[in-house]
Amino acid sequence: SSININELLEQILKRLRPIAKNRNIEMIYESFRPVIADIDEVKLSLAISNLIENAIKYNIEDGWIRVSLNADHKYFFIKVSDSGIGIPEDAQDYIFERFYRVDKARSRESGGTGLGLAITKNVIQMHRGAIKVYSKEGEGTTFNVRIPLNYIV
Ligand code: ATP
Ligand code: MG
Repeated sequence: SSININELLEQILKRLRPIAKNRNIEMIYESFRPVIADIDEVKLSLAISNLIENAIKYNIEDGWIRVSLNADHKYFFIKVSDSGIGIPEDAQDYIFERFYRVDKARSRESGGTGLGLAITKNVIQMHRGAIKVYSKEGEGTTFNVRIPLNYIV
């Protein structure tokens, strides 16, 4: 059904902001356009929450997270950037696979199962969309999501 994507993102950020604040991580939200799209609200909300939860979990103390929303005539774009530990280049091909985690020891400490990004990619593909990662170790990570506006659930 027709969902207000700006509101969907604001709801997610409202829920996750206190968790970020606990680690003194600043969360910035930038919306460049109002976006209404035919998407599955519950599933897309889970997919984007996974990205932002990762951006918190794999960030540094006093770091930042930037979430932005934009659109053209065909697609809307959600970008999640963080100032965190980054992902080694040779691992970037595998992070969307189920149960894959970059550093087993480190990941065990921080909890989780390694399913988050697999679910996120699945939901985005279900919406005929795409997700891409750009990352540099020790500098941070950006996930770019693109979803057609006219996707009908
Ligand atoms: P879960 O999401 O199931 O709680 P998880 O966070 O380990 O566990 P994914 O979300 O699928 O699993 O992420 C897979 C791996 O990719 C992570 O273990 C982590 O090593 C790496 N990763 C994901 N997002 C980031 C990020 N923003 N910065 C650095 N590494 C990341
Ligand atoms: Mg995760």
